[in-house]
Amino acid sequence: MEMLAVENVTKEYPTPAEALVVLRGVSFMLDRGQSLAILGPSGSGKSTLLAILGALDSPTSGHVKFGEDSPFQLGETELAAFRRDRVGFVFQDHHLLAQLSVLENVLTPLLADGKPTPNDVARARGLIDRVGLSDRTTHRPSELSGGERQRVAIARALVRSPALLLADEPTGNLDSATAEVVGRLLVELQQEHNSLLVVVTHSQTLADTMQEQRRIEDGRLI
Ligand code: ADP
Repeated sequence: MEMLAVENVTKEYPTPAEALVVLRGVSFMLDRGQSLAILGPSGSGKSTLLAILGALDSPTSGHVKFGEDSPFQLGETELAAFRRDRVGFVFQDHHLLAQLSVLENVLTPLLADGKPTPNDVARARGLIDRVGLSDRTTHRPSELSGGERQRVAIARALVRSPALLLADEPTGNLDSATAEVVGRLLVELQQEHNSLLVVVTHSQTLADTMQEQRRIEDGRLI
């Protein structure tokens, strides 16, 4: 069973005065197929922790292990491959490319392997269908509602079937009814793909759709 093991992770940012300590020793374990919400107020270090889980940023000390991989012990090429193949990200701000259609946006993570194959396109279309947007494949992001854009972002995050799905305040810009639909969709898809989902949020409603909840307080998970 592929497991995410986070051990005593700390993160400090150097400042001209004393270092700003954001994470003071975060530890937890999560199995594939599980979902975890990390709650906490703005500035508590949620995004910092998520960036470390996705190997976008490195911890000051401590260990992260995912299955057999220890991302922070990999060389640059392997680390890039880890991020590309194992991790899918959904951000608060959809981060879709404005000039691309819905279909093209969902295909972008596959472009690292070269021109998309007919299989890739079928896979992307399947995901777009699954998030309920098959009649929007040629739309640009500006022609979509906020909830639709987030549904595209979820489809894009899943197109490489990542084992680890990370979401940073994915419903933060949505009204509460839309947020609920998007939150539920995220969990359904995580279960269908048997990925491991970590969501950071200050929304209790979103957190309630996850199997487990932790709160980040004073740099520690409680
Ligand atoms: P949250 O996601 O909970 O709102 P963040 O993880 O974004 O919190 O930030 C936690 C703290 O770390 C904040 O005080 C923020 O100002 C600080 N911080 C985040 N990134 C950096 C950075 N690159 N350099 C210095 N300080 C940072």
